[in-house]
Amino acid sequence: MWKVVRQIANVGIATEAAPDIGEDNQAEASRIQAELLSILGDALAIREVDAGSCNGCEMEINALGNPYYNIGGLGIRFVASPRHADLLLVTGPVSRNMEMALKRTYEATPEPKLVVAVGDCACNGGIFGESYATCGRVDKVIPVDVMVPGCPPEPVDILRGILQAVRRRVK
Ligand code: SF4
Repeated sequence: MWKVVRQIANVGIATEAAPDIGEDNQAEASRIQAELLSILGDALAIREVDAGSCNGCEMEINALGNPYYNIGGLGIRFVASPRHADLLLVTGPVSRNMEMALKRTYEATPEPKLVVAVGDCACNGGIFGESYATCGRVDKVIPVDVMVPGCPPEPVDILRGILQAVRRRVK
């Protein structure tokens, strides 16, 4: 056992330092978080739909859950069923195989049925465009409230897109 303790003491802390996202980004994220909290009160349920993305956008969406963006602390949570969702976060060009699934997901979502298209592929087809395999941008398949361009967009941009969509809900 002492051998293990000695080894732990010798190795020290092996984790990397947290990345610096920049003061501007941090301030903007805090401002958006405060406005989201003031509008929402306590809850927003999001169903994320990967309609054909390369998963780059999903990595940025995942980052929304880290301590910097902390959407869990705002009462925003991801849900497994569109029936429990207020907002759909859709990535990727819509592949032909996902076209019907996306339409059904939209139909199953209750009002206010907000949709945020995340990433260049979702906004305009991106590098995949429209082809035998893809329908292209998301609004060719379902109505879209807000588009968040970028390949991939940064988490703070996605947060801004969610805020824009939620503002519509309170109008
Ligand atoms: S926008 Fe870029 S990162 Fe997002 S799915 Fe398309 S290629 Fe991937």
